[in-house]
Amino acid sequence: MRNHLQVIFLPTNKCNVNCEYCFEDKTDDRMTHDQLTSVITKLLDFMDGAHIGSLMLHWQGGEIMTMPVEWFEKAFDIIEKLADERGKRIDHGLQTNMIAYHPRWNDIIKKMFGNSVGTSMDYPNLYRKLFKGGPDDYTKVWMRNVQAAREAGIGVGVIAVTNQRTLELGAEAFYSYFVDELGITNFQVNTPFPGGEDNTTKEDIALENDGLARFFNELTDIWIKRGYGKGINLSPVDQIVARFSNEPNSLPCIWQSNCADEFIAIDARGFVAQCDCWVTSYPEYFFGNIFESDSLADLLAKSPARKAFLDRPLAIIDKDCIECDFLSMCHGGCPVRTYTYKKTLNEKDPFCSFYKQLFRHTESVAVGLLGNRSLGSRHPNVSPELVAALLTANG
Ligand code: SF4
Ligand code: SF4
Ligand code: SF4
Repeated sequence: MRNHLQVIFLPTNKCNVNCEYCFEDKTDDRMTHDQLTSVITKLLDFMDGAHIGSLMLHWQGGEIMTMPVEWFEKAFDIIEKLADERGKRIDHGLQTNMIAYHPRWNDIIKKMFGNSVGTSMDYPNLYRKLFKGGPDDYTKVWMRNVQAAREAGIGVGVIAVTNQRTLELGAEAFYSYFVDELGITNFQVNTPFPGGEDNTTKEDIALENDGLARFFNELTDIWIKRGYGKGINLSPVDQIVARFSNEPNSLPCIWQSNCADEFIAIDARGFVAQCDCWVTSYPEYFFGNIFESDSLADLLAKSPARKAFLDRPLAIIDKDCIECDFLSMCHGGCPVRTYTYKKTLNEKDPFCSFYKQLFRHTESVAVGLLGNRSLGSRHPNVSPELVAALLTANG
């Protein structure tokens, strides 16, 4: 964790909507301020012991806006005071579905969350639903609230999960929807996985690797032509292109050397697990309970489940990934995608073939951006038109 700790923090396990592909097993639990004080104190103890100077709390749920604004105002004061006393820095990020957004949130979003929020929407929206109403009703409320937040000056980033219709409609329609129609300049595209309790939607959401690769490669080309250098952030493709261009980059957690070195998640009941994909849904992989342990360091050190995460790269790389050209940036991919599709941690990510095709294509694109024609000729995936566009974009 070097000098920085990242915690995915779920002070509530409750949600106000009913997404069919949700991987969380939601409950009505929510944290009290006393419980929050206990969690933050133990995080600060852990940081002291490990000589970690700063903490990023990624706040989410459930749905975070099922908690009152006043709860956050007091929570912020508590956290600031505890951090100040220890000479530590604690920053905050907010992930919300925006369905309960109201302007009364504006002040705390500005003060605590740097005046920006992350939210989720798919194109097309098939699975995000209100309890009373279908996907279209959900989209309508979401668009209204996102627009209101943006008019209030709040920056809105979007995470989109691909589905079969996304691939059928194609990258052009997808990009136009988010960038041209909604005016989103900061978004991330994720692959689906059947986490949490089974249902028929989760049986259907699997996407085949070649279709995903075609979509993402096309999306990369569209972003290069229309978004690159124009303030449009499109993760993960912008980050992979930056990586291949030797520029500063931040690859998503699925490609970190081991996500177990990067994050933990804590939910409203105090359970600690790898990330939000695990902390409400897979008790067998809980690391422990922070309310029941005096020391987070002990809890992590003694957890067999965490050891399984730490051991995963060793278990899979020799078997599955050692020959891979992209091992140093993929490291075998995401444990939860592996687990939900393969029922084991110790296999490579089932999206492997998609990742390889995307890495190859983005590497070619980066080569084009560097204007290296001789290297570019070794990468036939890039069309002459794209090379021309890349060279123009590169000045
Ligand atoms: S995906 Fe998020 S917003 Fe949707 S039901 Fe699950 S927790 Fe709620
Ligand atoms: S399990 Fe997957 S989604 Fe969760 S932190 Fe690890 S890489 Fe990220
Ligand atoms: S792309 Fe596939 S083979 Fe290569 S490191 Fe990732 S999971 Fe392993």
